[in-house]
Amino acid sequence: MEKLLHTNIKTISRLLFDGTIKPTELTNLALKKAEDIKHLNSFISITSNQAKTQGEKSEKRFTDRKPISELDGVTIAVKDNFCTQNIKTTCASKMLENFVPTYNATVCQRLFDAGAVLIGKTNLDEFAMGSATTDSIYGPTKNIWRYKSENFFLSGGSSGGSAVAVASGVCFAAIGSDTGGSTRNPASYCGVVGLKPTYGLVSRWGLIPLVNSMDVPGILARTVDDVVSVLNVIAGFDNKDSTSLTKPYNKIRLPPATKMSIKGLKIGIPIEYNSEHVSEEVLDTWNEIAALLQSHGAVIKKVSMPHTEYSIVCYSILNQCEVASNMARYDGIEYGFRANEELSTEKLYAASRKLGFNDVVKNRILCGNYFLLTRNYDKYFTQALKIRRLIANDFHNVWNDVSLLLTPTTLSEAPSYKSYIENYDPYKNAFEDFCTQCANMAGVPAVSIPIKLSKNVLPLSLQLMGRNLSEPMLLAVAKYIENLVKFPHFQYEL
Ligand code: GLN
Repeated sequence: MEKLLHTNIKTISRLLFDGTIKPTELTNLALKKAEDIKHLNSFISITSNQAKTQGEKSEKRFTDRKPISELDGVTIAVKDNFCTQNIKTTCASKMLENFVPTYNATVCQRLFDAGAVLIGKTNLDEFAMGSATTDSIYGPTKNIWRYKSENFFLSGGSSGGSAVAVASGVCFAAIGSDTGGSTRNPASYCGVVGLKPTYGLVSRWGLIPLVNSMDVPGILARTVDDVVSVLNVIAGFDNKDSTSLTKPYNKIRLPPATKMSIKGLKIGIPIEYNSEHVSEEVLDTWNEIAALLQSHGAVIKKVSMPHTEYSIVCYSILNQCEVASNMARYDGIEYGFRANEELSTEKLYAASRKLGFNDVVKNRILCGNYFLLTRNYDKYFTQALKIRRLIANDFHNVWNDVSLLLTPTTLSEAPSYKSYIENYDPYKNAFEDFCTQCANMAGVPAVSIPIKLSKNVLPLSLQLMGRNLSEPMLLAVAKYIENLVKFPHFQYEL
């Protein structure tokens, strides 16, 4: 039975429909599996009661032969920075440790309306600041690949919990958030597909903000088709999000990979992404896949995106400025952690913030406020906005020559936790997002696709990026690649 958790959404939906498995049975299998992998620390809370109720309701619909959608009865997980009604939403922080929202984020509401079953809320770096899922008050999430080795490997982040929930089979899909790579980075390290949609295509309402101008809900799943099934449910205009795109969303239908052709498709290799920090194995994988696509008729072209080298610094400044203003709401007065002291209002603010945030968050608040000082504003913030525009223009220009870009997702396979802690370097950490954050600054869609296992038996992945709203083509080519490489899911030791 457990093997059913290893299938895909189309298959499980059919098996639910023909009665091979009941939604309550599938829910129980997933809940048991979530318990079995508890040591990986991918869930902050397992929502058994909610799951059981949703499973029973789904079962009733299947008995009546009236499932609502392809996601009816399908097990999912949601990163713990999306609001869920009556379910604790912590952002892995002391500040929101006991925060119980009164409403669902639009993404969650749409998934529930489609009949999906929530197994739990997943671990992340505090307030989604990070790329490792090591900075959570609940401790790090372990990668499922080689977790038995003496030093476990990073799951990536900040949506590491969602990536492990999917890689383990607990869920068919999970929601992450992506501000600079937080869906794609853990997808890459854990060997699953990770989509960052076009900015504005999926509503941010109820996603606790990190950087409003870059945040997007992301999707993690084991297959591209499963990503599409979820995207088709969550995408589309939402009047609760002022940056939501008003253009009607047309559901994506991908043909079987064997019926697709990439003959004549122009794929760009941006030379600036060939950084000295990219590992040899990632570089080889990049070259191999480019050659493979060429042998299938694609036209592979080297292209230049000259402002890439400024992107990390520019991203960091803009990120910290928006963080400084977003985090101002946590003052210990309205909601969130309050320092338990009889203090003046001002002292209460200070004490609550001092105790409620970790050092990463505090550091970003301080830097952001420094950049936003009147005397620094033009030097940092205005300048960074200008560079952001140049980076977006690099993308804009490159679409004159090619339809898609192929790059690494992460610079290497997942590092071990031990080496990460021993060599901890905030600058190096920021550099982890080198290949991913440009897409957020430009707003374009990007997808990470698992390709193969490294010599160390860890996943290696690549990224495709496309122009705004090119998801149908982007995901079609991702599916084509997925079919060529046949990534060995579940081939880890448990
Ligand atoms: N690692 C990046 C950061 O810490 C990206 C985070 C994200 O995408 N949420 O800013």
